[in-house]
Amino acid sequence: MVNSSSGQEAPDGLEAVRGLLNTWLIPNDTREPEDHFDEYVERSGASRSQRSRLKALRDDLRSAVERSTDTAEIVNPWIERLAIQPKVGENGLHFTHSSGLAGDLVCAVLEAVAAARWNRLKACPDCRWIFYDHSRNASKRWCLMTAGGPDGRSCGSIAKVRAHRERARSSE
Ligand SMILES: [Zn+2]
Repeated sequence: MVNSSSGQEAPDGLEAVRGLLNTWLIPNDTREPEDHFDEYVERSGASRSQRSRLKALRDDLRSAVERSTDTAEIVNPWIERLAIQPKVGENGLHFTHSSGLAGDLVCAVLEAVAAARWNRLKACPDCRWIFYDHSRNASKRWCLMTAGGPDGRSCGSIAKVRAHRERARSSE
């Protein structure tokens, strides 16, 4: 696996959500999709009964981040399923639950929605890697993986070249 994360980490609990989502990935070197969910649950220490729920949550959240399904449509049923409760705390709104790791992850999603950060979590349209967009106007489309090295990727390069040519043509 060559995928690197530098500069793409999400703030606070959202990084754990990104970690779950990127257990499904397309590595740079093989370009064949791989599923590392089993290693993830081993590491997380989640109980057997939690596993299928976590996997369903991963697949649901991935479709929300890839914007193939509306976030509200995905997240609202999970709030009910995991019995998540809002609580007013000293620093604003918090969410509580007793639903293990899945509950922690959905609470992190809710906090990101409340802080208007959720839409900065994005899936690269080329390689589908999940990254957090730190740019000032949240305008990044592609992951930050560079084309450096034999296994490096250059996501978005075809579209970027096309845009560059179009700009050059229109200024002739
Ligand atoms: Zn990419």
